[in-house]
Amino acid sequence: MYPVKYEGDIYRPPSEAKSLILQATIGCSHNRCTFCGMYKRKKFRVREFEELEKEIIAVSQMMPRTRRIFLADGNALAIPFELLSRILQLLQDAFPKLERVSLYGNPQDLLEKSVEQLRELKNLKLGIIYLGIESGSAAVLKEIRKGVTPQQIAEGASRAKQAGVPLSITVINGLAGLEGTEEHAGETASLLNKIDPEYLGLLSLMTVPGTTTHRCFKEGLLTPLSPWELLKEIRMMVEGLSLTNCVFRANHASNYLPIKAVLSRDKEQLLAELDRVIAKKAPGSLKSEYLRGL
Ligand code: SF4
Repeated sequence: MYPVKYEGDIYRPPSEAKSLILQATIGCSHNRCTFCGMYKRKKFRVREFEELEKEIIAVSQMMPRTRRIFLADGNALAIPFELLSRILQLLQDAFPKLERVSLYGNPQDLLEKSVEQLRELKNLKLGIIYLGIESGSAAVLKEIRKGVTPQQIAEGASRAKQAGVPLSITVINGLAGLEGTEEHAGETASLLNKIDPEYLGLLSLMTVPGTTTHRCFKEGLLTPLSPWELLKEIRMMVEGLSLTNCVFRANHASNYLPIKAVLSRDKEQLLAELDRVIAKKAPGSLKSEYLRGL
């Protein structure tokens, strides 16, 4: 019998498809974002260490060569520092070939940890934090009840940066509707420039029935962006970006056009491709020569 127990639906980043998933927490400690329905049926809790320990030991006997582990659910970074260190140490001991542990985090979770603590977690193989910022606009963040300001996001991200833990940031294309598209694109670019993340992922908004965001669009308080307007928003954001070396992907199933690029290296070519596709209003792929090999 498979020794890992999962409670409810499990979500993980696309890049963790081959990782062993362990549910260290249940749900999301914030659980208030107006567009998100992922953990509405779960009450947040951190799993008992002893229960997790038994599971880790059992699975390590079945899968001793595991190299990558993703700690679910919505924000395992909310686990208090001492306990998270204990879990990471246990994983290292149980899986001798372990290379990297990853998890989702909220900006609030980063603010609850010091640079020194994040550095210690990195030394215990915390190799990447998937951080959903959704937008860089103060107004949009307030509207979606993200619970943090752009300044707080920048501060939390800077702690991870100083500690040397890579960040994979997620932003939501179309989140502010047509009414807020320019502010969303511009302010997000400006916050991303402050963060200078290693990875950036863009998802297209897919409203979930039952959420406030869904209601806003349904009642006409916000106007949904057409595929071309979504691409124009991406273009505005990319134009404002000035990043050192960031792998940028917009290849989620919810995106209308798959994009893979390294920013800033590919910025001008990416803008030209976006212009070409927007002008022709023709679906295609941006994976042309200069974007291959990622
Ligand atoms: S923090 Fe993330 S998982 Fe939690 S409610 Fe917001 S979007 Fe959903």
